Amino acid sequence: MARYINWVHLPTLLSLPETILRKIDTKHLLNVGIIVAIFVGTATNIAVLSNSMRQLHHAANGLRQSTLVREKIFAAISHTVLVENIQQRYIMTGDPMDAAQYQSARHDAYDNISDIRTVTQAKTATSKQIDQVTSVLESRLTEIDEAMTLATSGKKAAAIDLIQKSTSRQFMEKRKALVAGVISAEQGQTTYLENEYASALKQATVSFTLFILEAVVVGILLFVLPRRELRKQQRTSEQLATYAKDLDQSMADLTRERNEVSRLNKASNYLQSCNSFAELTEVAAPLLGRLFDGSAGALHTFAPSRNQLDTLVTWGDIEFTPYLTPQQCWGLRLGQAHVHHENSPTPICRHLDSCNGANETLCLPLIAHGETLGLLSLVYQNTQAVQASSPDLMRFAEMVSHQIGLTIANIRLRDSLNEQSIRDPLTGLFNRRYLDIVAEKEISKALRHNRPLGLVMFDIDHFKKFNDLHGHLAGDTTLIAVAKFAQTHLRETDWVFRFGGEEFMVLMTETQSKDALARIDQLREAISQLTFSHEGVGLPNVTISAGLAMLEDTPRTTQALIEAADTALYKAKQAGRNCVKLAA
Ligand code: GH3
Ligand code: MG
Ligand code: MG
Repeated sequence: MARYINWVHLPTLLSLPETILRKIDTKHLLNVGIIVAIFVGTATNIAVLSNSMRQLHHAANGLRQSTLVREKIFAAISHTVLVENIQQRYIMTGDPMDAAQYQSARHDAYDNISDIRTVTQAKTATSKQIDQVTSVLESRLTEIDEAMTLATSGKKAAAIDLIQKSTSRQFMEKRKALVAGVISAEQGQTTYLENEYASALKQATVSFTLFILEAVVVGILLFVLPRRELRKQQRTSEQLATYAKDLDQSMADLTRERNEVSRLNKASNYLQSCNSFAELTEVAAPLLGRLFDGSAGALHTFAPSRNQLDTLVTWGDIEFTPYLTPQQCWGLRLGQAHVHHENSPTPICRHLDSCNGANETLCLPLIAHGETLGLLSLVYQNTQAVQASSPDLMRFAEMVSHQIGLTIANIRLRDSLNEQSIRDPLTGLFNRRYLDIVAEKEISKALRHNRPLGLVMFDIDHFKKFNDLHGHLAGDTTLIAVAKFAQTHLRETDWVFRFGGEEFMVLMTETQSKDALARIDQLREAISQLTFSHEGVGLPNVTISAGLAMLEDTPRTTQALIEAADTALYKAKQAGRNCVKLAA
């Protein structure tokens, strides 16, 4: 047998009862205990009650029998006395009526004796005494019968003689003594039975009361507790249903948010990759149209002046104003998202006045690094779809606008860095580095299309002296004024650079040398006429000298062109300044 037992499982087997006990809820165990206790109590009570009932029944039977015995004994005695009386009267009178009555009374007496025997069939404490009484009565009746037989056969004297010899008197006394004994014994029995009856009744009452109490407790346990448990379970299942609903809602929210985040991430990648407003314009329209499905909208950015916003991008069927002032938008005025819909008390922004049929509008300022850089306007015409998801839409739109704000800030920063690297900070003209880039491009363009290209180098005359006389700041003011004049005076297609110090370069595209000479000479003349002032103090006029080099006359590199222009400028200086010379 032992070889069939896997001893490895022994610890598991030993811990089984403990495992089972741990699984049984303590509360559940307590309930079971109470129910078992009540059932045991009830069973005991029923046993006690049934015993009491049996005792009651026994006592009642005993009492009834005792009473009956006494009644029957008295009846038998009465009938025996009656038989004796009728017999004596018959002997005296010989009346046949008496003979008939005698027979009837005699039957009754025997019946009574027979009844006594029947009643006392069960053995009791008085059975023996009762037997003696019946025996005495029967023997007396036998004696009477004998005398009666003599009398009826005409032997009246013999009958009287027999009566006189009879033991009537003795019988009376014996009967009296026996009956007294029976009655006394029966009374003792009756008292005992009455006590037994009373005690059984008491026990039965107590048991019955306990039984009722237990029935009430069982009733409570079986009906009230389960109901309470049921209600508790109902509450728990209701709570569970609520939790399940909340969980569903949370899952739906999570899924929606995950979709939003995923869409936003994709959009952010594109937005963050935009290097210029041109790229942003290209990317934003389809991107925002898809992100805000069912909407029309526009993206506006602040113009450098900051007193108006230009509309950079639009999508959807609605026509947006090409520019707006910050005062026309509640979102920009309040510095926060502004929603307007048909039933809202909030006003519609004036820049959206033209959007006829807009049921709901949303304006979100584009803010980055604490600076408002633009505005995102969304217009919806399908009210129901929008209002149902309005808080979500709002949150999503805010996230998107934050990303666009960052994108615009990036582009601005990039532009600003670019500006700084290609522009001269004092005059705002392109710098020498940028000249190299532009000149290279323009040279290759000119060569490809066989177009003329000229490079002018001009220099302010005696500027050191000017600085010395009027101060460096006055010199700066003059440099700025000359630069601005040159830029505005020349064609848009001409590039003006600050080459360094008080030297400037002009790259003239698609211009023959003759025209270039004439135009730069006009510039020289105009500059010499310019009047300047610094801090309210008038400054003397300045003149410039210029040298022009044409691409076709040089080895066709930027460096060669610059050197040629420099040589020509040197010639102009040599020629007495305030003049223009063409490179040889
Ligand atoms: P020339 O007619 O031969 O060109 O004489 P010039 O004095 O103009 O030439 P020079 O090369 O001797 O001196 C150039 C001066 O330009 C020296 C410097 O004080 C001035 N200058 C250069 N850059 C700046 C600038 O950014 N601001 C000011 N105020 N002056 C500058
Ligand atoms: Mg110089
Ligand atoms: Mg100079």
